[in-house]
Amino acid sequence: MPALMALRKRAQGEKPLAGAKIVGCTHITAQTAVLMETLGALGAQCRWAACNIYSTLNEVAAALAESGFPVFAWKGESEDDFWWCIDRCVNVEGWQPNMILDDGGDLTHWIYKKYPNMFKKIKGIVEESVTGVHRLYQLSKAGKLCVPAMNVNDSVTKQKFDNLYCCRESILDGLKRTTDMMFGGKQVVICGYGEVGKGCCAALKAMGSIVYVTEIDPICALQACMDGFRLVKLNEVIRQVDIVITCTGNKNVVTREHLDRMKNSCIVCNMGHSNTEIDVASLRTPELTWERVRSQVDHVIWPDGKRIVLLAEGRLLNLSCSTVPTFVLSITATTQALALIELYNAPEGRYKQDVYLLPKKMDEYVASLHLPTFDAHLTELTDEQAKYLGLNKNGPFKPNYYRY
Ligand code: NAD
Repeated sequence: MPALMALRKRAQGEKPLAGAKIVGCTHITAQTAVLMETLGALGAQCRWAACNIYSTLNEVAAALAESGFPVFAWKGESEDDFWWCIDRCVNVEGWQPNMILDDGGDLTHWIYKKYPNMFKKIKGIVEESVTGVHRLYQLSKAGKLCVPAMNVNDSVTKQKFDNLYCCRESILDGLKRTTDMMFGGKQVVICGYGEVGKGCCAALKAMGSIVYVTEIDPICALQACMDGFRLVKLNEVIRQVDIVITCTGNKNVVTREHLDRMKNSCIVCNMGHSNTEIDVASLRTPELTWERVRSQVDHVIWPDGKRIVLLAEGRLLNLSCSTVPTFVLSITATTQALALIELYNAPEGRYKQDVYLLPKKMDEYVASLHLPTFDAHLTELTDEQAKYLGLNKNGPFKPNYYRY
């Protein structure tokens, strides 16, 4: 994770997070550990819980705990354990958080519900996921957001790299590790053609799969068409496809009716943040038999013998069943660290009780810290060119509305 190491090196003993008490709720992986160690090196105290009941790497959580980070998480928590862990993370005598780093909004939600007074000391929230950001905008709209929040999800460096490139690589890994399937010639339907959907589609197309897309937004739908995918309604292809993948961030995209109509051996999985996209609860009825065939893989069997293959019980596939590329997570983690530093050190009044994007210059800084990995040589503007384009030679290089 080159940029986190660079941040530590550049700080050179300076502690931009001295006094910061950060509660975090993210996937607990080796990469998160490097982020936590970096935050520690920059002066912060951290307490952490997992944002997903399956994605914790136990050995990482144990190593962090051993080196003194309070971590409350293990792989395979129950729903009750999940909330217990979050509670243990924030509800501690003699320690109050002053920053939140959240992925999905559950930690923020819990503090709002149980410990609203904590917000008196909290300087800001950094939120990483589409789902969590959506919840923050809802709070802000209702006039209930009581501290500034940084929407890291919509930083270009997060969205294009973590959502698009990360999923492009890890969708295949997740499917392979759970099913050992061959992708060539398989019919796949991908629900949602946002960043995650685009990544999944590109990967499966490259493997020779026949890819269908469903969308509700005409712009993303048109992009799918121009990229060579057939835009369909789920109903139109549900009987024929071999794999169904959801990536919408929405709920009940795959319903019991769809599940009833799928063909034998159809694989069903989700790449969106929460387990709401596939109506898994509707499969827990007496006439259907569940058979666990290997870790994270269930066969759900209909009375006539038809079975579907449900991966990770509808939870996000790549983080539950495979690993994600460290380099991409380095980009996200650096963005998170910079957002925390920015909110924590911002002078009074710079940020109000609203949701903000990371300043563009910082987004560019995160990218530039990763370029040396590729021995990439960036062209510098001449004075004349900078003047011609009306830009500062050191950036930002694009207006906020530029869409990359
Ligand atoms: P996005 O908003 O760019 O894309 C979601 C797309 O789904 C949108 O284009 C939207 O129009 C479409 N959509 C919504 N409801 C739909 C429906 N009923 N049917 C078909 N399409 C529908 O978001 P994104 O960045 O692609 O993220 C999608 C989800 O994936 C989020 O929940 C996010 O948190 C999660 N995510 C997962 C990973 C991962 O590693 N698995 C990484 C990043 C984000």
